[in-house]
Amino acid sequence: MSEYLFIKESAINRFGCFTNKFISKDHLIAEYEGELISAEEAMRREEDMNRSGIYTFWLNDENAIDGYNKGNHTKYFNHSCDPSCYYEVAGNKILFYAARDIQQGEELTIDYDYDADSELIVCLCGSAECRGYLNEAGENA
Ligand SMILES: [Zn+2]
Repeated sequence: MSEYLFIKESAINRFGCFTNKFISKDHLIAEYEGELISAEEAMRREEDMNRSGIYTFWLNDENAIDGYNKGNHTKYFNHSCDPSCYYEVAGNKILFYAARDIQQGEELTIDYDYDADSELIVCLCGSAECRGYLNEAGENA
């Protein structure tokens, strides 16, 4: 766990993850922690209305990491269309890095690139690059 990360209310979506120190570009910030689960289990959990949120992060077509119970600060990274961070999948690990220099006090965000789904969800990231929806089909779709 990176001790300089903290959770507080966010303009994007209820709560977000912020940094209380400067982070330089391409610095490894944290690993997305949680339970390694199968695709079937991930889909079952995503449709479970008794859960208060979805924290499944897909590694590939067969597995996902679910941060719902065992997650760390990374599960609070909100989506932004112009994010401060990016992720890389390395085997069964998802690693979050700084996409640019990040100043003390800034919110940490990721472009989750959600699949286009039946219902469009409005994006509140507020960036100049905002695509308008969390799950809008990309230009190549
Ligand atoms: Zn946006």
